[in-house]
Order: sequence, then C-alpha cells, then structure tokens
Amino acid sequence: MLSVFSCPSRYTQGLNATAQLGAEISSLGLSGPLLVVAAPSALRALADSWRETFERSGMAYAVLTFGRECSLAEIERVKEAARAAKARVVVGAGGGKVLDAARAAAADLHLPVVCCPTIASSDAPCSALSVIYTEEGVFQEFRIYGRNPDLVLVDTRVIAEAPPRFLISGMGDALATVFEARACVLGNVKNMRGGASTRAALAMAELCYRTLLEDGVDALQAAGARRVTPALERIVEANTLLSGLGFESAGLAAAHSVHNGLTAAAATRPFLHGEKVAFGTLVQLVLEGKGKEAVEEVLRFSASVGLPMTLAQVGLSDPDRLLLDSIAARATAPGETIHHEPFPVTPSMVAEAILGADAIGRGWLASATSGAGEGVR
Ligand SMILES: [Zn+2]
Repeated sequence: MLSVFSCPSRYTQGLNATAQLGAEISSLGLSGPLLVVAAPSALRALADSWRETFERSGMAYAVLTFGRECSLAEIERVKEAARAAKARVVVGAGGGKVLDAARAAAADLHLPVVCCPTIASSDAPCSALSVIYTEEGVFQEFRIYGRNPDLVLVDTRVIAEAPPRFLISGMGDALATVFEARACVLGNVKNMRGGASTRAALAMAELCYRTLLEDGVDALQAAGARRVTPALERIVEANTLLSGLGFESAGLAAAHSVHNGLTAAAATRPFLHGEKVAFGTLVQLVLEGKGKEAVEEVLRFSASVGLPMTLAQVGLSDPDRLLLDSIAARATAPGETIHHEPFPVTPSMVAEAILGADAIGRGWLASATSGAGEGVR
C-alpha cells in the first residue's frame, strides 16, 4: 500500500487574518470574481474587512447569506449564485455547514475553494469532505473530493469572539486524533485518502495531543476573555490544522464510531460533535485496554477544560440496555472506522466499553468532588 498525505494548498492563521484574505487568494494565482457564502454572523462581523481586502486586491465579489442547512437544495442555491456572479473562486465563511456547502458547490463547478472558519469547533475545515443533510437536518451522505481546500484562512480575532463552548468542542475532536491515528498505524489500515499513514501525519497527531495538554486551559481562559494569546493561537492550530491533517492522513478509529453511535440516541443531539467525540475517546481507551496512566491523563485534561467524561454529560443518564445496544450496533455498523482498531470489535465489546468508560468517568468526578481529584473546577 502506498503512503498518502493530503492537505490544503495553503493554511493562514492569525489575528485579523481576514485583512489579508484578498492577498492570500492572489498569492495562489487565483483571481475574482469571488462568491462569498457567509453565515449571517460572519457577514455581520466581516463585511467591512471583505470590502477592504477585496478592493485592495482588485477582486469583484458577491455575498450569499447561507441558509440553515447543508442540504442538496442549499448546495444548488450556492451553485446558482456562483454562476450568476461568474465566480472563479468560492469562499465559505462560517461554521462547518457553511464550509461543507461551499466545498460541495465548488467541487460540482470545478472551482477552487477557500474556507474561513469562524469557530474552531471541529477539525473539518482543512479536509476534503462534506457532510450533507436533508432539509430537516438528518444525515444524508458524505462526499469526498479529490482535492483539499485551496486555502484555509483562520482569523483568530473572530475565533476569540465566538462562545468558548465551540473551542472546547474543537479540543474534544482534537483529543481523539492521536489515539485514532495510533490505532490506524498499528492496524496498517487505509487513511481517509486511501493510503497508508505517513510519519508526518502521526507526528502531527502527537503534536496535537501535546498542544492540548500544554495549552488547553490557558487557551480557554483567553477565549473566555475574548483575548487572542499565544496559547489560543496554538490551540486553534491544534483544533483546525493538526487535528485536521492528523485525522485525514492517519485515519479515524473507535472514538468517532462511538460518536456516530451516540447520535442514534435523541438525547445526545444538544451536544456538539467534539463533546461526543471526547467521550468516545475515553471509550476507545477502555476498549483498547489502555493503562491507568494513559486514561487518567485524558480524564485530567477533559476535566480541566470541561469536556464530557460520563454518559450523563452527553445527555444519557442511565440509558436502558436496549438504547445501549442500539448505540453499540450503530457504532459497529459495516464501514464504521471502529473496524480500524487492530483487533476485531463486536457490539457487545462496545457496550461494555461504554459502561466501563462511564464508570471510570463517574469515579473520577466523585473523587474530584470529594477533593481527591485534580484539575476539576
Ligand atoms: Zn471529528
């Protein structure tokens, strides 16, 4: 099997990076007209910066306000607007659904795509895939593209203005990366791009985890005060770039399948992707029979930034056996990345690991409230 590593052509991050958006697009040899697909909040925050940067770069542009859902109808609407604007580049600015729709429309029209995430809540912005939903918000399909985005530009001023819960969720998504990458490397399975992992992808996943441990708490404090600090910059890079390249070019394993299983339970819907992935990470460690030290390191981190470590913390206090079995069945469906684990995984193993992780998490919280735990606020 060949090793394959895949990434955006350019990644740009920093305070007020939006002011350089036009210049960054030009530096790739791309030019207008542009279609900017914008979440309403992105439009409010960035309309003036876009006018200035695109004017300076001599780029005509049109703005389309994104609807609520990344559905087939919404993707068609983006394509229509791009055609009407004679767009040569599609720019998405907002959360994951906006970027997914921009990517899907650009791929259909064979146009370059620029992703400007306004929250650091998951590792999707750098990836070459979109998740498509029905109008009602039910998962419909994944689309995987031949190319990653041409440019990912992250303005950390904008990230710092967003509610801190998004940053926490991004850390939950990033928490899984190294454990899933290690499982994929051990099992010598194909990554998301159809090749074996590279040392580069694994090194990024390892750095991602180290960054979370070192900077997570400081970054969260900065986000709470809406300040851009070096720690916040490092965590935004970990959540977006390191985790993104790590998952795509090393691979996913049990943690994300447990997340998918949890989505089978309606009570978990109010919880963000990364929050469920964080609990899935703990389940993966239990499933793999990892030692106390490794598990406690993850618990300590999760507690320090407020990520879930029990079923109750993802909306499932005391699930009955039927619900647990349906979660485990969904997590082990054919094609799920849990089968990248370097040993066969059955639904009953997953159900037991979920209960095991929940017990460990509850034990940790109980010892923390009695004063024996560490790092819990
Ligand atoms: Zn994820």
